[in-house]
This record gives sequence, structure tokens and C-alpha cells, in this order.
Amino acid sequence: MSPTGSALVLFSGGQDSATCLAWALARFDHVETIGFDYGQRHRVELDVRPTVLEKLCAQFPAWAAKLGDDHLIDAGIVGKLSETALTRQTEIAMQADGLPNTFVPGRNLLFLTMAATVAYRRGIKHIVTGVCETDYSGYPDCRDDTIKALQLALNLGMDRRFVLHTPLMWIDKAETWAMAERLGGAPLVSLINHETHTCYMGDRTTLHSWGYGCGHCPACELRAEGWARYTQPR
Ligand code: ZN
Repeated sequence: MSPTGSALVLFSGGQDSATCLAWALARFDHVETIGFDYGQRHRVELDVRPTVLEKLCAQFPAWAAKLGDDHLIDAGIVGKLSETALTRQTEIAMQADGLPNTFVPGRNLLFLTMAATVAYRRGIKHIVTGVCETDYSGYPDCRDDTIKALQLALNLGMDRRFVLHTPLMWIDKAETWAMAERLGGAPLVSLINHETHTCYMGDRTTLHSWGYGCGHCPACELRAEGWARYTQPR
């Protein structure tokens, strides 16, 4: 029942988007990737992207044949528009409105809109993003309703029939590891564990059982907790 055709995956270099990339490679005939440089303090995630792509191709030849161009977009405007803890060296904390100060307002809306612009130009119908409501970090632009509304707006505004796919929307971090295992077995789990980057602090000095990171920021805590539940005896 796999849809065929072309897909564009929002690939940041993190665990979620790498799993989404594998998900797309298992389903579509041709897959391209897009990443955004927006002055994120964890810029190291952009540095790991080519390595993840290289290793995916080396270890999964059937996927290598489907993997097309990688588009790295200069989205520095996002950092200029919004001063948040993701784009500045300030402490990560909760704000009075209940949102973490890592929230970059409208970031995913902008990224998905830019992705749709590239997809339009490339004749790509399917757009895949790793947003998720379950491990809810308080980011309202990761919500299912937001994505559905944006799909409608993009299709009206560009006169296309894009389909926005969110394979992780209703699963948690442990289930995301399990999805990687279903898609590419232990080699894919190991690749994602070792080569992707999640830590907000951009720390890749220490390798933990769950991957590289500072071990203390919210992104590391979420990743470590998901790995612990995925690997606990079932
Ligand atoms: Zn961290």
C-alpha cells in the first residue's frame, strides 16, 4: 500500500528527522532532503547531516538509489526575527506563558513553507516532517491541527496538492526508535544513535548509550529517556 512518487524530507540531522528520512526511503521512489541554517546554537546538527546521508547510502544500497539532492537553505532570517534560547547563548528555561524559551515562533511554519516552495520547483508532491504531539515540548506549530491547516493553506496558496506527512505525530521517542528498527534493523538504530544530533547545547564530546549530547538539556533528557524505555527488557 506504499504511495509512490517523490518526497521531500525536512532533515535537520536529529533522531526524529533521520527516522522520517528512512520512513520516506522505504515508501517513495525518489527522496530529496532539505535542511535549514537559521543560526541555531546547536549548529553541529547541520555538520552531522552529510555524514548521516553518506552512511545511509553506504549501509542501505536500495535507499542510496532513491536518495536525490540535499537542499541546505540559508534561513538566517529566522534567527534575526526571533531572539530565543535556540539562537542565542542564554539559559534554556520555561517562560511565563508555559512555553520553553527554545520556542522559535513560527519556525516550523516557515520551514514547511520554504520546503513547499522547493517541492513546487522540484515537482515533488509529498513533504515529510518529524513533528510530534506526543513528546509535546510545548511547540504549538508541531500540533497535528497546525500541520493540517498549513497543508490546506499551502495547497490553496500554491495551487498544488501537496501531502504533508507526519509519521511521528502520535508516537513517543521510544516508539521512534522501534520504528527505526522496523525500517532498517539494528544497523539503522546504531547509525541514528551514533551519527544524529539532538542536544540543544551542540555538545558532541561524550557518547552516551543513547548518543552524543550534554545529557542535561531538555532535548538530551527526552532522547535519553526514550532510549531507556526502548532498550528496557520487554
Ligand atoms: Zn544536551
